Amino acid sequence: MHPLLKKDRENLQELLSQTQKVAGEYFRQQDTLAPGRFVANIAMETLPEKGIGAMATLDHFAKNFAGQIANSAGPRYFGFVTGGSTPASVAGDWLVSAYDQNACGSNDSIAPQLERQTIHFFKQLFGLDEVYFGSFVTGATISNFTNLALARQWVGLQQGKDFSHDGLTGAEPVTVLSGTPHASIFKSLSMLGVGRKSVIRIATLPEREAVDIAALEKQLIQQAGPVIVVANAGTVNTVDFDDLVAVAKLKKKYNFWLHVDAAFGGFAACSEKYAHLLEGINAADSITIDAHKWLNVPYDAAMQFTRHKGLQLSVFQNSAAYLGDPEQSPDFFHYTPENSRRFRALPSWFSLMAYGKEGYREIVERNCAAAHHFGELLKASEDFVLLAPVRMNVVCFTLKQDDLSAETIRKFLEAVRDDGRVFFTPTQLHGTWAIRAAVSNWLTELADMDLAFEVLEKVSEKLKKAQPA
Ligand SMILES: *Cc1c(COP(=O)(O)O)cnc(C)c1O
Repeated sequence: MHPLLKKDRENLQELLSQTQKVAGEYFRQQDTLAPGRFVANIAMETLPEKGIGAMATLDHFAKNFAGQIANSAGPRYFGFVTGGSTPASVAGDWLVSAYDQNACGSNDSIAPQLERQTIHFFKQLFGLDEVYFGSFVTGATISNFTNLALARQWVGLQQGKDFSHDGLTGAEPVTVLSGTPHASIFKSLSMLGVGRKSVIRIATLPEREAVDIAALEKQLIQQAGPVIVVANAGTVNTVDFDDLVAVAKLKKKYNFWLHVDAAFGGFAACSEKYAHLLEGINAADSITIDAHKWLNVPYDAAMQFTRHKGLQLSVFQNSAAYLGDPEQSPDFFHYTPENSRRFRALPSWFSLMAYGKEGYREIVERNCAAAHHFGELLKASEDFVLLAPVRMNVVCFTLKQDDLSAETIRKFLEAVRDDGRVFFTPTQLHGTWAIRAAVSNWLTELADMDLAFEVLEKVSEKLKKAQPA
């Protein structure tokens, strides 16, 4: 063994406690560190011929780079839809690295059984029927990809084709109907060979991102063959929900695969105030829900659920060995895009065990209350305008001025970032350049929204003054 490896192994306990100190230092400062920061390009160092050992490497990292990491796990990072990590999930995540399981097989470890247990917990949390099969993947994008791969296979089978075996060559184009699909739907369709242009955008209700059910039905009548409907349960701009009960009714009349993208909207199930938004979800053939967003576990983790476990096996099987017996419970690597897989269920298992349904109800309701409060502050202000009602945890707003462009918003948000107390990301809603505040972190309190609003007003004043009259 190389002497540096030998030495590091001998000093492993000290290395771990030193690492814990660096992490502990970060956790202690989470309330005050800048959520986002400008980082200049760094010089690319030459790979050392002789290593410096783990302790010196940790020191090098802590001194030179740790201070420039985004505090995106802190309470005032409102960009995208970003969760932090609960204490229990960090403990679980550290152990995942320590044990370094390959959670693909099932004949050597409890890991796959704990993954099944975690999926079972989630079905209870989200109110999903027990019949759903589920697995962990890296994020909602790959969950959408996995689920749409099943949908594609189903469409083929309706036409007597096996796409998984024969490919798409010569097949009728696959069609996807959706009101306000997330960007990852298009990316998934590109990766699946179905194509981005296979999406037919269905009209949404006036001033809404939710699909117009009558328009959806009209399109379904016009379709010659079986299609895929992507319903949205929580859009990223305004957390709008398609009427899943109405979509479920259409499913009784027309032949389609129903996929529900509930990446963070699935957490509506945690609270009696919002659970009604998910009514009808059990009609779905497949469902996407993220864990690294509102569950507040470390990246990267999401779940995919389906009622068609056998179909999933036929698409993702690693070899033909299981072909004859889909009801058996073979290893996860016959169901998921990955072959080798991190034991990424464990941080979720830790967090669900540690905080239970009640803990997640509290986070969801506190985050939504914070978003509503922020919406009220913006509504009453001179400088900003709210672009949609605050339905749950996202506030979509913009500057009160006439000549809004992508550039105006970008400059404004850079000034907000450089103030160092809050971070937002831009968006476009119905053609208007805008700003989103997504509140999905377990640490966020009402006072954080007051502070965020204070920063917005200050930056707005400053930029107004800087402008030539
Ligand atoms: C975030 C999000 C995704 C993509 O999720 P990743 O985890 O970033 O891959 C897909 N759909 C919706 C509705 C989302 O909010």
